Amino acid sequence: MAEIIDGKGLAEKIKQDLCVRATEFEKKSGRKVGLAVIRVGNDPASAVYVSNKIKACERCNIRSFSFCFDEATSQSALIDLVHKLNKDPDVDGILVQLPLPKHIDERAVLSEILPQKDADGFHAVNAGKLFLGEKGGAVACTPRGIIELIKSTGVSISGKHAVVVGRSNIVGKPVAALLLQNDATVTVCHSRTQNLKEITSLADILVVAVGKSNFITADMVKPGAVVIDVGMNRGADGLCGDVDFNGVKEVAGYITPVPGGVGPMTVAMLLCNTVDGANNE
Ligand code: NDP
Repeated sequence: MAEIIDGKGLAEKIKQDLCVRATEFEKKSGRKVGLAVIRVGNDPASAVYVSNKIKACERCNIRSFSFCFDEATSQSALIDLVHKLNKDPDVDGILVQLPLPKHIDERAVLSEILPQKDADGFHAVNAGKLFLGEKGGAVACTPRGIIELIKSTGVSISGKHAVVVGRSNIVGKPVAALLLQNDATVTVCHSRTQNLKEITSLADILVVAVGKSNFITADMVKPGAVVIDVGMNRGADGLCGDVDFNGVKEVAGYITPVPGGVGPMTVAMLLCNTVDGANNE
């Protein structure tokens, strides 16, 4: 029976430390660390994520600046705001909540954020630094949180076979780069991968970011593996992950629950990136 990795508890501890760091920054600089959060449209899931992020800022003595745009807002209006926030000395981090409406080119907007204020770590400069192993760039929040969750188990990443299912720019690719940096042997799987089960069954560390409920079943998991479930799928029964939790927990050594695993760590890492950004000025 797997040990459940308590992402919520770990995120709370990280937020307590962040509160101390944010308060030290305020004493030193005479102003609070600031995070600007931009949302476009009425997607209910995005509204919940943004509200959680703003609440977390309050808990950590970080000032939040919230901007809500109508669904029909133009790309140039959004970019104008980003430019204004880039110049605002009270703003250390800028977050554009994804997804954006279809008429807006996400990459075009994200690339306008100053890399030093890129709280989500999605800017090409920061993604490039991650892939080159250069220090000082903001690391994408969910991948950064995943590494902390794995480390919290006490299982060493070095030399292990890590399998990542999913190759998105926000989860799969950056988490694969981070696992490689931590000396894992990394295999990345995607929708064209053949014999997926044979590959996942070899994983000492299995990270799943597919977006399909109960996609990974117990027969696909190596006994004793560390299983990180990134999925957040909303269905009739509420929120569920990409991993069949009840089946896989009988086989794995460690497993993250959904909710209470990766999600809270993503928020904690967003605030970490913001406080890091303020201190790097
Ligand atoms: P994307 O839709 O961008 O990527 C999904 C990936 O899964 C793609 O690379 C796709 O392959 C791959 N995939 C799809 N079907 C299969 C299959 N049958 N076999 C193997 N691989 C497959 O999703 P994201 O990475 O943005 O998100 C994944 C999940 O994680 C979602 O549920 C999302 O809500 C959640 N999420 C949770 C976060 C958190 O904080 N907890 C943060 C971000 C995301 P291909 O590239 O070939 O299409």
